[in-house]
Amino acid sequence: KLKSILPQAHPPAWLGVMGGGQLGRMFAQAAQAMGYQVAVLEPSADCPAGQVAQRLVNAGYSDAAGLDVLAAQCAAVTTEFENVPADSLSRLAQSVFVAPNAHGVSVAQDRVAEKRFFVDCAPKSGVMPAPHKVIATQEDIDAIGDDLLPGILKTVRMGYDGKGQVRVKSRADVQAAFEAMDKVTCLLEKMLPLAYEVSVLTARGHDGESVVYPIAENVHRDGILFTTTVPGPNVSDDSALKAQQAAQAIVAELGYVGVLCIEFFVLTDGSLVVNEMAPRPHNSGHYTIDACVTSQFAQQVRAMARLPLGDVRQHSPAVMLNILGDLWFTDDSDNTREPAWNEILALPGANLHLYGKDDPRRARKMGHVTFIAPTLEQARQQLNAACAVLG
Ligand code: ADP
Ligand code: MG
Repeated sequence: KLKSILPQAHPPAWLGVMGGGQLGRMFAQAAQAMGYQVAVLEPSADCPAGQVAQRLVNAGYSDAAGLDVLAAQCAAVTTEFENVPADSLSRLAQSVFVAPNAHGVSVAQDRVAEKRFFVDCAPKSGVMPAPHKVIATQEDIDAIGDDLLPGILKTVRMGYDGKGQVRVKSRADVQAAFEAMDKVTCLLEKMLPLAYEVSVLTARGHDGESVVYPIAENVHRDGILFTTTVPGPNVSDDSALKAQQAAQAIVAELGYVGVLCIEFFVLTDGSLVVNEMAPRPHNSGHYTIDACVTSQFAQQVRAMARLPLGDVRQHSPAVMLNILGDLWFTDDSDNTREPAWNEILALPGANLHLYGKDDPRRARKMGHVTFIAPTLEQARQQLNAACAVLG
């Protein structure tokens, strides 16, 4: 009831974002392009989003005074990372419209809650997560059946880019890994035979209308997204449709408002398994900035401002390549040098996005480049050329 009487937030209203990383930066840029003003709440003083926002509220994510400043300034607040404390979103929601809300974020930030939700949702979504078991005690380890091995042990909270994950072959491996992770609650997942990985980006408005972007095919290296290709060279029409329908069922079931991305596995037998979801724009959706009518960040703005959602149509085939800090290092030493941006930018269809991080570190996401071209084949050739330039 309250939602339906809330007015839309029109420019130049202030929009707030929890978190100062690159997703917040690209959100701010999209919001500013539409004439909004952006406030970022983030504890570190120099951050990618803080560099571009009109206001940086320098406070911890749970700092009551900081949250109140953000709520007082803004017409709506969103988040750019899933580990924002759900209580902070609840506090904000007492005085400002928050999308996504604490419920959606709290499910996505806890692998146990997330898996349970996926299982409960399966009759509607038509997809199940990987077989799994919560590992919190010694008894849990003793009770591991052979059906879950080999597997992957994942921390329930705070995992990203493959961090907080250990591959295990035996109960003894689980034991050692669990102890090495200070016995925090983990999830043991069966290791599945992946043919390829896809993700589906969706957005749902406060009125319950939802849109779904074209399915993206993702390649990971060392647990970190390496490339996203759309349309995916391996993706069949059948699995694309199934994943898109599952994604829309999942956001509807969550009662979600905002942008949400769901990762799926396609197994060697062709079956689809739901992996995890992110309650925000996603690295695999960066291609939408250059290749779709409405980027995932512009969509995030529209959803939180309670405006009509934008056209998700893709106008060009696209390949996105992540730029990690490793590129700055030439050898095993700590010496760094700037990558050859001129050579990347000389490739036709190249769109370079750097996040303003001044200290390159290995495995750190520094930026991305999206190649768009008239055909997928041409876009993939530019990717290969870029990889040759970057080494
Ligand atoms: P993160 O939060 O780090 O993205 P994910 O659960 O997505 O964690 O795992 C990272 C990557 O590890 C996945 O993209 C996939 O390549 C691989 N992976 C994760 N779970 C499984 C599994 N059950 N079977 C096979 N590969 C997996
Ligand atoms: Mg993942």
